[in-house]
Amino acid sequence: MTMREILSKSDLQSWLQCPRKLWLEHKKPELIPDDDGGMPDRRITDGNIVGEKAREQLGRNYLWPPRADNPAAAAEQAKKMLAEEPDKPAVEVPMLYQGLYTRADALLPEKRRYILRETKASTLKLKSDEVTPRAPEEHHLNDVAIQVWTMAGWGLPMARAELNLLDSQWRYPGDGDYSGLFRQLDVTGDAKALKKDVPRWLREAKAVLVGRMPKVVTGKQCADPYECPFLEYCEERDPPGPEHPIELLPDSAGKALARKLRDTKGYTSILDPKPNELIGTQADLYRRIQKAHRTGKAILEPGSGAELKKLPYPRYYFDFESIDCPIPRWKGVRPYEHIPFQWSCHIERAPGRFEHEEFLDLTGNDPSRSCLERMREVIDPNDDGPIIVYYRAFEKNRLEEFGERHPDYNKLLQQYISRLVDLHPIVKQHCYHPQMEGSFSIKKVLSAIAPDLDYEELDEIQEGTGAQAAYLYATMDPKTTAVRKADLESKLRQYCRRDTWAMV
Ligand code: SF4
Repeated sequence: MTMREILSKSDLQSWLQCPRKLWLEHKKPELIPDDDGGMPDRRITDGNIVGEKAREQLGRNYLWPPRADNPAAAAEQAKKMLAEEPDKPAVEVPMLYQGLYTRADALLPEKRRYILRETKASTLKLKSDEVTPRAPEEHHLNDVAIQVWTMAGWGLPMARAELNLLDSQWRYPGDGDYSGLFRQLDVTGDAKALKKDVPRWLREAKAVLVGRMPKVVTGKQCADPYECPFLEYCEERDPPGPEHPIELLPDSAGKALARKLRDTKGYTSILDPKPNELIGTQADLYRRIQKAHRTGKAILEPGSGAELKKLPYPRYYFDFESIDCPIPRWKGVRPYEHIPFQWSCHIERAPGRFEHEEFLDLTGNDPSRSCLERMREVIDPNDDGPIIVYYRAFEKNRLEEFGERHPDYNKLLQQYISRLVDLHPIVKQHCYHPQMEGSFSIKKVLSAIAPDLDYEELDEIQEGTGAQAAYLYATMDPKTTAVRKADLESKLRQYCRRDTWAMV
């Protein structure tokens, strides 16, 4: 079998997401954006960090197969290594069967067989009782099934298959003690049931690679389970759609209604439905959106001015930026808990009279206490000025989590929570512009009502994920120079300030 005939687990995962993705990765790899020395990809970085931590938990005495020139040699050497030391756990074990190449994250010996343990940088999702695990994600199961099939064919007996996931309930106790960080989910039954599909996946994936570029239209698959790097290329090749697609109906309920109207009535444009077909708890909003797209004009319903006028002064326009690391670095923090490292606050002391205050901690230490102290200095606990935010739930959750970790601030934080005023529902109930394209995100609203404040002009940090990457790059990457750190600091300040000025 030649190298060209071997497919990897990632190849099959790409094919499962979208056949064209696999085809493009092999036939037009030059379309994948270069790593141009910019900020690291969060998904890859998180995966590497979590993988390293999972290996640490196996102790020091595990096997790591030697590097080899090609998959066949790598798998051959690994098999020899396992045979020589059958009682030791092994990591990153290459396996090859019928032209499918995978690497097992960990193989743990148990009674002359092996536990196949696949680590993911995801948390174990629990049911509402917060104890019982939910069903694993489909792409994780597919991943394990591919390995179970390869392992069986490769001739290694399996005791069971596990997903090794982060425990979202666990809090880091400090002092480097990460025992308890992971929880294992036994997926042997599900993976074995799926295993029988793997040969067909492999056959069909190979067939894609000897054919022409698959005909596919962009859709949900372009971001599920992973963002696809070919989106721009594919969108340019999509057949032309209606100018105002019915999918502009917002939120999950709007999308479900759009799907129903498309399937049952054949509607493709938001202009197609009769007003009485736009139903549901947000029917008024859907009709407003339809009217705006039909006329091409913005709609501002009466009433928002009165709501805003009721708000007393001073008014605090406030926004957090936070970091959610898979592996907590600071005591008391859970996996992927959002820890604010920055905020911006425009204070309107009297109508039209503004001041600006901010906080940013790029030391890499836990920013929580200094963040709270600075908030207390800026947002006066003794006035009842509203703290105006966009999507209240985000700021409220951060304030509540601060209270759990810093009970001495709880009284202040509860007071702040009671003062939160959310602009998002006010905008949603009163305002729509066709340029918002069915979205009420602050960036879409701003680009429609104040295009001179567009986020596009903000260079490399234009949204929250960019701010998170900048934080990680500035605080945790030893290769970041002082000059680059200063540059990122300035861009972070500019970005967060833009968010609160957008609310103003
Ligand atoms: S952008 Fe979408 S359609 Fe294009 S290859 Fe990726 S997943 Fe497939």
